[in-house]
Amino acid sequence: MQPFSLVIHGGAGTILKQDMTPELEQAYVKALEDAMSAGFAVLEQDGTATNAVKAAIVVLEDNLLFNAGRGSVFTKKGVQEMDAAIMDGRTLGAGAVAGVRNIRNPIELAEEVMLNSNHVFLSGKGANDFAIKQGIKLEPDEYFFSQFRYDQWKEMRDSDNYSLDHTHQGLEELMKDKKFGTVGAAACDAYGNIAAATSTGGMTNKKYGRIGDSPVIGAGTYANNATCGISCTGHGEPFICAVAAYDVSCLMEYKGMSLQDAMNQVVNVKLVKMEGEGGMIGVDAKGNTAMLFNSAGMYRAMRKSTGESAIGIYKDLYSENSR
Ligand code: ASP
Repeated sequence: MQPFSLVIHGGAGTILKQDMTPELEQAYVKALEDAMSAGFAVLEQDGTATNAVKAAIVVLEDNLLFNAGRGSVFTKKGVQEMDAAIMDGRTLGAGAVAGVRNIRNPIELAEEVMLNSNHVFLSGKGANDFAIKQGIKLEPDEYFFSQFRYDQWKEMRDSDNYSLDHTHQGLEELMKDKKFGTVGAAACDAYGNIAAATSTGGMTNKKYGRIGDSPVIGAGTYANNATCGISCTGHGEPFICAVAAYDVSCLMEYKGMSLQDAMNQVVNVKLVKMEGEGGMIGVDAKGNTAMLFNSAGMYRAMRKSTGESAIGIYKDLYSENSR
């Protein structure tokens, strides 16, 4: 048995205190606490890292505040198309889905792909057919509807612009005010096994079946017991080109860097050069955690069996318990 830990995010971007009401801030903090409690309980009951990340993500997918599962953004065609991935660092097995519709918890479908499909990555209608065959929970369109995200989309639907989660301006405004609402989790269990998972609705008004980094193994999600578990959030295109999550693992494996240093190199050096705004969370096999971002804020939380915990939204932590 060794120290175990869980770290989660609810998206990064231009998240500024002046744009937030106290009520909304409280709602985000509570949502992070709820997800953390659900995932950490799994680890405390001797559960696996994979089950812990899944439990945390399900809570975030069920919450309208986040752009994943329920509350996902609208595409150009006015529907929700969701992406998700999960990876088990013990086996290096992974499962991912892209462009799926009406799936209550896309992370459960990603896990089903990992465990029972003989494949790694399923997309669109085929992934939905697999979900039905495996008895994954479906919901009607109304379940995923939120007025707030519908209004965002209505403002954009006649344009060619697309935006990252809460943003609803033209492209020029978009570059100034970026927010990303993807959710993710990474865990190290009491046996040193690592897992990571990410789930998202992608970008408002996205078209042509656009897929971001979240479900792409190595880009938005990666786990390997020999190195780390990583879940990313941010502008997906540069994260894909940077192979961001796997790059952290490579820096640890081949250069012997610590989790914190490797993540810093990718988030604050490599991605900055590529104009890849966003962040990532990570764990290593000793239960160390890190939460880094190059944007104004990132919804995030961590907890360790040794007693440390923290919650943050903006640059400074919202609350911290260092034991
Ligand atoms: N990375 C996600 C994407 O590009 C967006 C996000 O993190 O909110 O689809």
